[in-house]
Amino acid sequence: RRWLSAPRLCVVGGGPAGFYTAQHLLKHHDRAQVDIYEKLPVPFGLVRFGVAPDHPEVKNVINTFTQTARSERCSYYGNVAVGKDVTVGELQQAYHAVVLSYGAEDNRVLGIPGENLAGVHSARAFVGWYNGLPENQHLKPDLSCETALVLGHGNVALDVARILLSPLDLLRRTDITASSLAALACSKVKRVWLVGRRGPLQVAFTIKVRPRKRLTELMIKTALEKPAEKTEAAAAREWGLRFQRSPQEVLPTADGTRARGVRMALTRLEVGAPRETFCAVPTGEVEELECGLVLSSIGYRSLPLEPALPFDPQHGVIPNSSGRVLGAPGLYCSGWVKRGPTGVIITTMNDSFDTAQSVLEDLQAGVLDVSAPREGFGAVGSILRSRGVRPVSFSDWEKIDAVEVARGKAAGKPREKIVDPEEMLQVIGH
Ligand code: FAD
Repeated sequence: RRWLSAPRLCVVGGGPAGFYTAQHLLKHHDRAQVDIYEKLPVPFGLVRFGVAPDHPEVKNVINTFTQTARSERCSYYGNVAVGKDVTVGELQQAYHAVVLSYGAEDNRVLGIPGENLAGVHSARAFVGWYNGLPENQHLKPDLSCETALVLGHGNVALDVARILLSPLDLLRRTDITASSLAALACSKVKRVWLVGRRGPLQVAFTIKVRPRKRLTELMIKTALEKPAEKTEAAAAREWGLRFQRSPQEVLPTADGTRARGVRMALTRLEVGAPRETFCAVPTGEVEELECGLVLSSIGYRSLPLEPALPFDPQHGVIPNSSGRVLGAPGLYCSGWVKRGPTGVIITTMNDSFDTAQSVLEDLQAGVLDVSAPREGFGAVGSILRSRGVRPVSFSDWEKIDAVEVARGKAAGKPREKIVDPEEMLQVIGH
């Protein structure tokens, strides 16, 4: 079908949600132009900075995103922090519609005493550290202790436990950063306990085969596995799940400077409402678990981009109906900032297609007025220039990519990530 005039659309965030939203818009509207704005010079969000280095097959989605970015009707502008370098209002002036897909860049906090002691980190920061996220490169987790506690029973908790215990030879062949690999090479950590408030039937792990019965069988099999069946390297290191324990306090060392353990309240499960959910209620008994490293993995959290934009602080999402931001015509959202920080990439894909569909419907129904053309990057580019911001194009990213792959090849890895944004910009001659 023919449309009135070419809609100029933009997406804020170059992670899976941003790319899948752009893909769907381009595929189902033959004249739409979609610009993707990303805060970092490099694209792909948590596919690059979240997905564990030893799960390279998950990162194959990058090929699809690359195809989208290479479309004639799509442009990528990295190194542009929306809300700081350009406002959402300015984007709305320049585009017929704006989709917010900026993910969840913060984490939930435990809210218990001792949480800020040295030796306590969010799993989010730890993941960012080993995956080369610029803001976490100075984390320097102290790996000189033998026992680490991971608080939380989700996929991210499993990722960080695995990275702490994986044989170095396995990690060496991944795209884990050189500096985190060097730190892990000196690690004394040999025991990791994953602690959760509820029981085995409430864990938030997901496996490729969906049914919970299969997941439970897997947990039982792992729990019963005899040490003799494990390889020698694995036997020297151990991990386990601790159920029905709720952290009450991170305990300080005698000099008060660092964590030496966590006091847990033991819990029992009570049926909540709705009936299938179980609440963990303290029994009154407590237990202390000794450890030198605590990684809290109780969830990511989205933040509002600008104070005036609609945001639901309680649920940490942008209030929306099928991706249409409530009370803000022309504004949409997709991905973790729309749905909350749960779900795998496929979930994010479906959710982004749903939002893109809403945009297409609104174009078709005339809810979005495309009778007057909009300038798109023509207008935004001048604003950015006036503020001294120089965007990174997708072909710039491909140069950074080539340098990373070449450096990785020399080290026998798929890539050696550049972790300093300044160096990324140097590579492309900015
Ligand atoms: P993100 O991936 O976070 O992308 C958001 C993007 O927006 C980022 O690039 C960010 O830099 C950018 N941005 C933020 N603020 C601004 C701003 N102001 N202006 C411009 N840009 C901005 N799923 C799987 O299927 N398999 C896995 O193995 C897997 N492993 C995971 C491991 C971890 C540790 C985590 C946290 C998640 C994992 N997931 C996995 C889930 C998957 O990563 C998410 O479903 C998906 O990344 C969410 O996409 P998103 O685009 O909403 O958010």
